[in-house]
Amino acid sequence: MEIEFLLSVGSFVLLLLLLVWELYKPARMYAPRQKKNSYTTNAEIFLCNTVVTYVLSVGLVFVLVSEFAIHNMFEYVPVVLQYVLGILILDLLIWFWHMINHRIPFLWSFHQTHHAERYLNVTSALRFHIGELLLSVLFKSCILIVFGVPLYVFFLYESLITIFAMFHHANIALPARVQNVLEYVLISPRLHQTHHSDKRQEHDSNYGVIFSWWDILFKTKNRATPDTIGLSYGGEKNLWSFLLMPLVDRK
Ligand SMILES: [Zn+2]
Repeated sequence: MEIEFLLSVGSFVLLLLLLVWELYKPARMYAPRQKKNSYTTNAEIFLCNTVVTYVLSVGLVFVLVSEFAIHNMFEYVPVVLQYVLGILILDLLIWFWHMINHRIPFLWSFHQTHHAERYLNVTSALRFHIGELLLSVLFKSCILIVFGVPLYVFFLYESLITIFAMFHHANIALPARVQNVLEYVLISPRLHQTHHSDKRQEHDSNYGVIFSWWDILFKTKNRATPDTIGLSYGGEKNLWSFLLMPLVDRK
């Protein structure tokens, strides 16, 4: 519990640091109106999602589901190896989940709302449709049942996802040579910008959350520099048009 509290505080501090960094040294320039709309909408989406996941006791769902794990292979390995193995398995499977969110039209109808963001910034990491979040609860529940990943590893990974997603969504100017080195191991802001391109051949790439290895392994790593960030359809969103997008825009 203590480590979870520290990670929550660390995530909040990182959010503030990245917000300041991208305002003073941004990778791309955007109009102030676009920024204001993004910050407001993303804060509303985050609040709305937090309320729904709290009411549905999503954390408790994972605790209950883990009782039905098919096997307990993690019990036979040292704790350090449990963390290493668990985080690698989870990161690979979340890579797979993200990839099918782009390939299966029903899943894309929810995930496209995340890609409708025109001003990519640290708060975009919090911009997910509640439909996608609830579907991901089902997928993650299957991971817990099939692989028996211990809950303490799973919840640590959930915190790491938030931290790494904030980092690679941030509109921060990082030297190219730093990103070149980083991209052998991690998803960099530059790789994730390509993932938010308006062109399908560019946004159907770089599905990784933490490690870039899965994209290297499955040949989905793409270092193209996108001309335009965000989908060409859908437009800027407020909370309501964002929530209705899966029903209205299907491309
Ligand atoms: Zn995506």
